[in-house]
Amino acid sequence: MTTLRLTLTDDQRALKAGVIDICKRYPGEYWRELDAKREYPEAFVNELTRAGYLGALIPTEYGGVGLGIADGSLILQTVHEHGGNAAACHAQMYIMGTLLRHGSEAQKKKYLPKIATGDLRLQAFGVTEPNAGSDTLMLQTTAIRKGDRYVVNGQKMFISRAMQSDLMLLLARTTPREQAKKRGEGLSVFLFDIRNLKGLEIRPLRMMMNHSTNALFFDNAEIPAESLIGEEGKGFHYILDGMNAERILVASESIGDGRWFVDKAVAYSGQRVLFGKPVGANQGVQFPIAKAHMAVETAQLMRDKAAALFDAGEPCGPEANMAKYLAAEAAWDAGNACIDCHGGYGYAEEYDIERKFRECRLYKTAPVNNNLVLAYVGQHVLGMPRSY
Ligand SMILES: Cc1cc2nc3c(=O)[nH]c(=O)nc-3n(C[C@H](O)[C@H](O)[C@H](O)COP(=O)(O)OP(=O)(O)OC[C@H]3O[C@@H](n4cnc5c(N)ncnc54)[C@H](O)[C@@H]3O)c2cc1C
Repeated sequence: MTTLRLTLTDDQRALKAGVIDICKRYPGEYWRELDAKREYPEAFVNELTRAGYLGALIPTEYGGVGLGIADGSLILQTVHEHGGNAAACHAQMYIMGTLLRHGSEAQKKKYLPKIATGDLRLQAFGVTEPNAGSDTLMLQTTAIRKGDRYVVNGQKMFISRAMQSDLMLLLARTTPREQAKKRGEGLSVFLFDIRNLKGLEIRPLRMMMNHSTNALFFDNAEIPAESLIGEEGKGFHYILDGMNAERILVASESIGDGRWFVDKAVAYSGQRVLFGKPVGANQGVQFPIAKAHMAVETAQLMRDKAAALFDAGEPCGPEANMAKYLAAEAAWDAGNACIDCHGGYGYAEEYDIERKFRECRLYKTAPVNNNLVLAYVGQHVLGMPRSY
């Protein structure tokens, strides 16, 4: 029977303390400056990698720390609780799961040890396209086998960290849609080096927040045939397999954001005195903060449940999706409560609240938008009619 621990173990406390030590060296000014210039947090990501935190989920036989998703979640949550943004490097934790579960032994030996040491970065995940957002099966990028290569053509949209990553995990069509035997077949996953890849153009997109996101254009880009992960045509299922991990880890970042907003709101509303008392004494200020705190706590419980099931090898689709939804909404509500209690100061860059507010908004939309999570719960958990 899977059990749920409600307190951190000594090892987890030590893990958290180590991440906090690093975060203290990267205060608000660091993130603010990079945000203004839309620059990648190289120094922070390198330090987190060198300390082993980004290889936490890689098994020890491939040079990683061999921890579970509950520990990975704790790492990302802690970064966000301390004002940082792990979105710059979180993909490595869940992308490598596809390689681990479905890659060949040769692929794992080739890549995982170097990812664990930081000699290779696996931070780019190419799924979304201009005509295939939530509807992944509509994707049009093709990878056609020619001898010992695949030739890739098409366009990808919102592919983050393509300029900072050495490797990319790509989902592309290897069998035309109409020839695929089943709806979810005909797509394949590839893992390959994108540094100086001929036929790949990367165009940065300036977004609402600092996220290193790009449009990609593949024009007869040739990648080695051994880039294929697992079996040709099964890629959509491999990507689905990795989604629970992605949901749990992203939920953890939202939980961290929610805690950061609540802490900031409590501190400020206790010290800002108006009409002879702290603003936090007013129910109009206090209650939204109390509600936000309860929502963050609830999301964390669901995230912990999802992580416990995941680490026990149990099915956890409903819990992982619900955790992602609850956490993204809780962080957003906490952000609003935090801005409200700060009055005009909530909008001032030097308080970091507006930056965090922009950053946390993303998780209502990506990696899966919250409407689709509701549709999943309605259809797959409650057995209601299919809406898409
Ligand atoms: C900053 C950023 C970084 C990203 N990084 C990556 C990345 O690294 N790799 C990658 O592959 N993708 C990435 N994405 C893409 C992201 O995963 C998609 O934006 C997301 O999946 C939604 O797809 P879409 O933008 O095409 O919206 P659409 O799918 O076009 O949806 C538009 C709207 O319609 C609603 N909607 C759609 N279908 C339904 C339905 N059936 N029922 C109810 N409502 C519906 C949605 O809620 C949404 O509000 C990133 C996006 C952003 C903004």
